[in-house]
Amino acid sequence: MKRIPDLCAQRAMLTPDAPAFADPIGGRVWSFGEIERRVGRGAALLRGLKITEGDRIAVLCHNSVAFFELLFACARAKVILVPLNWRQTPAELTPVLDDSGAKLLIHDGPTADLASKLAAATRLPIRSLTEWDAQCSEPGDSLAPTEWETDAPWYLLYTSGTTGKPKAVIQTAGMALANMINVQTATGIGPETKSLNFLPLFHTAGINLHTLPVFFVGGLSQVLPKFDVDLVLSLIQQGGITVFFGVPAIYQAISLHPAFENTDFSGVKHWGCGGAPISAALIQTFLARGVNICNGMGMTETGPTVFFMDRAHAPTKIGSVGKPQLLSEVRLVGADGGDVADGEDGELWFRGPGITPGYFNNPMATEGAFAPGGWLRSGDIARRDHDGYVTIVDRIKDMYISGGENVYPAEVEHVLQAHPAVLEAAVVGVADEKWGEVGHAAVILRPGHSAEPGLLQQYARGLLATYKVPKHITIVTDFPRTAAGKVQKHHLRAALTAPHP
Ligand code: ATP
Ligand code: MG
Repeated sequence: MKRIPDLCAQRAMLTPDAPAFADPIGGRVWSFGEIERRVGRGAALLRGLKITEGDRIAVLCHNSVAFFELLFACARAKVILVPLNWRQTPAELTPVLDDSGAKLLIHDGPTADLASKLAAATRLPIRSLTEWDAQCSEPGDSLAPTEWETDAPWYLLYTSGTTGKPKAVIQTAGMALANMINVQTATGIGPETKSLNFLPLFHTAGINLHTLPVFFVGGLSQVLPKFDVDLVLSLIQQGGITVFFGVPAIYQAISLHPAFENTDFSGVKHWGCGGAPISAALIQTFLARGVNICNGMGMTETGPTVFFMDRAHAPTKIGSVGKPQLLSEVRLVGADGGDVADGEDGELWFRGPGITPGYFNNPMATEGAFAPGGWLRSGDIARRDHDGYVTIVDRIKDMYISGGENVYPAEVEHVLQAHPAVLEAAVVGVADEKWGEVGHAAVILRPGHSAEPGLLQQYARGLLATYKVPKHITIVTDFPRTAAGKVQKHHLRAALTAPHP
């Protein structure tokens, strides 16, 4: 498949009057027909700004319906949208703007200051998203729907930067379509679906899990500017959400909220989680409230959905990310390049229509990421059980070797997190004269609990081989994290090993 119809226009043709988007705070609702008209106008406005086919435009904004209009307008005008992380500084964003070759920077109200600083540093023209959006309501020229090329870049998404500098991953309409089929077949979303969008739009989940699949199947996306635990819990309680996609940090925040014990969660039919390892304790906490969290796994490079856990097996296969989905081809590859047997560790390799063609403007990184045959090397170690369910063991980059034995920090973290006083644990390998490397655990305690490092080591000794027990344990109040709450191990290692002043 090389060309498909403009999916925004197709959707509007099918269900023009159905609600496509809602703003739960302001109460406004946009129908598919209205979105289509605004997108046609918005695409013509981009042309009026001398933005032409293949150009890149960057956007800095909190979540809004205007963002999605801009995304569809870019598809129509064949312009590549580059969402930027508004939590970053001008020093971090300037090279990203250079790298993407953006011709224009669009911002919203809260990011106006940051955009002005960037404009001063890069001499890029800036425009207000709010003004562009208001102009979309005014009469004027409109760009008619055109076919979408399935393999052409539509938008760029930067990886989370968990292991280092974020990489710009090309996202295509073909990837979005494959991802939609995987999400639909795994979760059963349809025209009656009501989702809630609160994860940042500069990472894959905000666009590709929360919104595009729901839009394409004719469901309603309710857009919050950002995650707000009070508001999210009250919207769940009101029963207006049928599908919920979160990351572990979101589920953690919900579980610690005073309203957690009394909220009625029964309106939500599917609870998805992914992006980072979720502890068994957290899954159990939700199961006790009747919430069946289905873990899943993917990458920015994979659109992102590869694995989903099915609802029937979620309560028994705790720790697994489920099975590969309809359009995901998966291999588990050993050090010799061959497929490993069930129960053995191997690197996850991915192929299929949901996989990126590569990193933008970075042929070296693209070449390094793909193996012969078009397989994407994930950099993640996993194992498959005899029923075909896959468990992520850890990232290859995070494994360390202690006294000649491989240690996967995730295994140690799971053990520490099962201790009643521990809320979260993060383990890194640090240099050691005797063993080469040893584990250093940073531990966040549950509110109102205390535990001496020595006691935690003693506890871990009862459950782990001695070489896996962290030699050092430091109690901390938080870890260095990405916008989605993922622990940045390279920053954590630097903080734990920094000489004390
Ligand atoms: P970077 O590539 O910049 O270091 P990142 O890999 O965290 O950052 P993403 O593409 O957002 O960027 O995340 C994909 C990675 O997240 C996967 O390769 C995997 O390591 C991890 N991951 C995703 N889902 C899960 C999960 N359910 N359990 C464990 N790890 C997961
Ligand atoms: Mg990655």
